[in-house]
Amino acid sequence: MRRTVVAGGSLAGLLATRVLHDVADEVVIVEPDDLPDGPRNRAGTPHGDQFHVLLGMAQHLFAHWFPTLFDRLAAAGTVPYPTDDARMFLDGSMRLPVPGDQLMPVLRPLLEWHVRSEVLALPRVRLVRDRVVGLTAGLARVNGVRLASGAAVTADLVVDATGRASRLGDWLLRLDFQPPPKRRMELDLGYATMLYHRYPDQRLDNLFAVHSLRSAGSPEPGVSVVAPAGPDRWICTVSAYGKQRPGRSISDFRARCDREPAAGFAALTRECEPAGPVEVHRFAHSLRRDFHTLRHFPAGVVPMGDAVASFNPVYGQGMPSAALHASALAAWLETGEDIHAYFERLKVLVDAAWQTSATVDFALPHVPGQRPRGYRMMHAVGAAIDQATTADPVVAKCFADVVNMRLHPTALLHPKILARAALAKLR
Ligand SMILES: Cc1cc2nc3c(=O)[nH]c(=O)nc-3n(C[C@H](O)[C@H](O)[C@H](O)COP(=O)(O)OP(=O)(O)OC[C@H]3O[C@@H](n4cnc5c(N)ncnc54)[C@H](O)[C@@H]3O)c2cc1C
Repeated sequence: MRRTVVAGGSLAGLLATRVLHDVADEVVIVEPDDLPDGPRNRAGTPHGDQFHVLLGMAQHLFAHWFPTLFDRLAAAGTVPYPTDDARMFLDGSMRLPVPGDQLMPVLRPLLEWHVRSEVLALPRVRLVRDRVVGLTAGLARVNGVRLASGAAVTADLVVDATGRASRLGDWLLRLDFQPPPKRRMELDLGYATMLYHRYPDQRLDNLFAVHSLRSAGSPEPGVSVVAPAGPDRWICTVSAYGKQRPGRSISDFRARCDREPAAGFAALTRECEPAGPVEVHRFAHSLRRDFHTLRHFPAGVVPMGDAVASFNPVYGQGMPSAALHASALAAWLETGEDIHAYFERLKVLVDAAWQTSATVDFALPHVPGQRPRGYRMMHAVGAAIDQATTADPVVAKCFADVVNMRLHPTALLHPKILARAALAKLR
């Protein structure tokens, strides 16, 4: 391939660029934001101030493409926490620690800046500051992009990595192709994040990182996390749905920490001083675009990352999904198969992540929509497995592998896991 264009210079776009660099003479990233020369957030990633965790599969794939990335993140204060130092709670009960597993909290602007530095240092990558506004086509295939500045860039392949607000459907319509059908799950989720001062090696409730899930049956469902953001800061995020969404007031933030069932949050507000304002973010809905259902699709363009599917962020599936999409892109380019082969790979990945998040989210009473057939049973089984992670090490290990996207969610339905979950419930 001579030239490829990647629309969007965020994490999915950077991962696509890394993969395309192996097969193309030139990769052009088109990004409208003025990208900061440092770990600072920017307009195109409004969620960048919120807590992010890098799940196991993402850690694995990022390390594969960027072998020195984690050393550089560690030098900047990002450290993975083994299970002795980080704990996960479910409604205040501790999930059993899984030996070998590690929680990797990351400041998103820091991660993106390091990945971007590595990608832009690649010899055949060029960054163009502009916005993609459409596709150009000829002889039944896409052959480039149109830019807001009025310029056009020709390409053998265009990758849409413009995130969940992707306009690829509109661009396809203008070329007389159908847009992909969309599925939405209304969530009305609110995140609020604050930085707190931290003294070196400070622990909270004797831990470095605490992750607390309040399940759908609890009075205030959501997730809270506290973890170091470097040697002298804690980052703490609280979240809730609908009318219970957190606001911008520090006293509200503090009250939420104080009523968290996991003790580390109250320790934070008791022992540490705020180091910044409350940053909020609203996540209205999960979304997937089912490209695999399209019979006709032009050659020369592919979507990836949040432009394909964007899930409830409390499950931390966004970056591992983007990395898995990049991996699917690499495999597809290597085989030279038809575009539908790429969409089938995406379908398997999106189905798995959607299954994990949607099964749990349908239990939230405020989420509208028809539950799938057999949902009550599915939910009861899921809740029993979830509960068993606080009592049975084998279930806890399998659950951790699914959550970290190392195993498909159906692994939890293995008879051995179901039997152990039932036994744990009886006990
Ligand atoms: C509150 C919140 C918390 C999250 N927490 C986690 C977490 O803990 N772990 C995790 O793995 N994931 C998390 N995610 C998801 C994760 O941030 C995303 O999956 C990740 O950023 C990858 O997204 P992306 O690159 O596909 O899209 P985005 O990050 O949205 O980037 C899209 C890019 O495209 C650019 N762009 C837009 N339009 C155009 C255009 N027309 N032309 C060119 N460029 C364009 C934008 O400027 C931007 O740079 C969270 C998300 C949210 C909202």
